[in-house]
Amino acid sequence: MKTGIINKIIAFSNVDGPGNRTAVFFQGCNLHCLFCHNPETIHRCVGCGLCVEKCPQWALKRNEAAGSRPVEAGKTAGMAGGRPDETAPVPPILWTPSLCVDCDTCIKTCPHLASPKVQYMTAEALRDKIRRTAPYINGVSFSGGECTQQRDFLMEVIPLIRELGLGVLLDSNGTYDFEQDPELLRIIDGVMLDIKAADPAFCRTLTGAGPELPFRNLDFLQRAGKLEEVRTVLFPHHPEQNEATVRAAASRLRPDVRYKLLRYRPFGVRQEGLDFLGGEITPEAEGEHLAALARSLGAENSVTV
Ligand code: SF4
Ligand code: SF4
Repeated sequence: MKTGIINKIIAFSNVDGPGNRTAVFFQGCNLHCLFCHNPETIHRCVGCGLCVEKCPQWALKRNEAAGSRPVEAGKTAGMAGGRPDETAPVPPILWTPSLCVDCDTCIKTCPHLASPKVQYMTAEALRDKIRRTAPYINGVSFSGGECTQQRDFLMEVIPLIRELGLGVLLDSNGTYDFEQDPELLRIIDGVMLDIKAADPAFCRTLTGAGPELPFRNLDFLQRAGKLEEVRTVLFPHHPEQNEATVRAAASRLRPDVRYKLLRYRPFGVRQEGLDFLGGEITPEAEGEHLAALARSLGAENSVTV
């Protein structure tokens, strides 16, 4: 049995896919986007203990059962062959939610882009939690971090959620090769896919990876009828990059696929990202102009938000 490492569950969300959905955010991502709004979801806690003594509520303590597991600073704990080892993850830090006041001192303290406020859950425990809200929601969205980093846990939990009569969407950064995983594709309704940038050098600077696989996924998922939505963030002061990305994505999209152009907002972005992208919101006029461009290229369901 696998254990999911979950940063947060939002019982009712209307921004994580169509309708009213439960959104499950996994801990851990293989990218390190400079514009990430939740950079504390990028890595897993390495158990350094720095946040424990800073917590004003004594809501954190070291987990002696985790033992000493030396992990290089900034790397994800429990990685095996590029994907997290899901066999028996043990939380290095124990968090007591009933004591926590959500001051986020721990997150601000952490030098590893991690959070000690995570839940380790079995598939059955997550299913039982979702069961309570099932009559009120349209479906479940798995997000992150990058949810496909915990692919084996997804394979366990998704069938249990489907037994509740709920549909399932994945929110992905596009770096998982969906074509190579028909088993996963078979049990989901679709993927909400990020297309972050078309220019290889710009994309690498922004995210740490190139655009080739996300674009391949766009084409493949669309052919397979599993492309639920595409999202692109528009960056301030980079109009040419924004236009190149929108052109490349929109010209491939069928008219019925939703294409959401998200104007960059600096809230929650770490200093490294603010240094590169600045502290301004992308102008609304630029968003509207690019949404109109996308529609003119055939992506008729394009909007900017
Ligand atoms: S957010 Fe919670 S766990 Fe973190 S420092 Fe504040 S009280 Fe402690
Ligand atoms: S959350 Fe960060 S600061 Fe706290 S123990 Fe884990 S790695 Fe260290």
